Amino acid sequence: MQVTFMRSEPEAENIRTFYFKPERPVHYTAGQYTELQVPHPHPDSRGDKRWFTLSSSPEDELLSITTKYAGDTKSSSFKRALFNLKPGTELDAADPMGDFVLPKLIQTPLIFVAGGIGVTPFHSILKWLADTVEERPIKMIYGVRNEEEIVFQETFHAAGIEPTIVVGEPSDAWGGERGRLSAELILGVDKPSEDTLVYVSGPELMVQALAKDLHKAGLSKQQIVTDEFPNYDAI
Ligand SMILES: Cc1cc2nc3c(=O)[nH]c(=O)nc-3n(C[C@H](O)[C@H](O)[C@H](O)COP(=O)(O)OP(=O)(O)OC[C@H]3O[C@@H](n4cnc5c(N)ncnc54)[C@H](O)[C@@H]3O)c2cc1C
Repeated sequence: MQVTFMRSEPEAENIRTFYFKPERPVHYTAGQYTELQVPHPHPDSRGDKRWFTLSSSPEDELLSITTKYAGDTKSSSFKRALFNLKPGTELDAADPMGDFVLPKLIQTPLIFVAGGIGVTPFHSILKWLADTVEERPIKMIYGVRNEEEIVFQETFHAAGIEPTIVVGEPSDAWGGERGRLSAELILGVDKPSEDTLVYVSGPELMVQALAKDLHKAGLSKQQIVTDEFPNYDAI
C-alpha cells in the first residue's frame, strides 16, 4: 500500500511517533506490524526497509509507527532518512501482518511485558480497547533504561492500566521498581493461572531470555507470546 507521511511528534527525547495517511482505508488488528520503505541516497548495509509495529489503534484515521533515534552519528541511514522525512512524502508500506494480537476469548487473563520501544504493540492494543470500550483482565510490566524513556502513560491510563515500571538506570528521585525485567518480577505482578497468556515484546535478546526463564518457571510455551525487535540492545 502507499502511505503519505503527514507529521511526527515527540514521545520522549529520542522517541518519536510518525503518522501516515494510507491511500485507502486499511484493515488491521491491534498489535500487527508493517514493513516501511524509506528510499534515500547511499543506504548503508541495512538497506532502506524496516519492520515496525503499528502503534496506532485500528480505529484511528492515520497509521502510526513509533521508534527510537540513536543520534546522528550512531543511527542507520534508514533512521536518519526517516527522521528527516518531509510532510507529503509518499512511501511504500506492506499490508499489516502478524499474530501478536489479542486472543479471541475476552476473559483470558493477560500479562503484558514491554521492554523499551517494545511497548509499541501494547499502545496499539490498549488504545484500541479504550476506543472500543472493551475490558480485558490485563496486568502490565514495562522495563526502560531510564525515566526519560517512559512513553504512552496517558493511553495506558485511559485504558485503565497502571503498568509496573522497572527502571534500569534510574535517577535518585525514582521511587518505583529498579533493575531489569525478570521472570520473577513478571510473575510477581499477577499470579498466572493455566489460562494466563504472557505477551513479551522488545529487543530480541531480552525477549528470548525472558521467554526461556518464564518457561523454566512453569509456563507452557503456548502461554508465552513473543514479538522480537532485532538490532536493539537488551534493556
Ligand atoms: C515485527 C517487528 C516489529 C518491530 N517494531 C518496531 C517498533 O515498533 N519500533 C521500533 O523502533 N523498532 C521496531 N522493530 C525493529 C526495527 O525493525 C529496527 O530493527 C530497529 O528500529 C532498529 O533500527 P535500525 O536498524 O535502523 O538501527 P538504529 O535504530 O539506527 O540503531 C540501533 C542500534 O544499531 C546500531 N547500528 C546502526 N546502524 C548500524 C549498522 N549499519 N551496523 C551495525 N550497527 C548499527 C546503532 O549504533 C544502535 O545501537 C521491529 C522489528 C520487527 C521484526
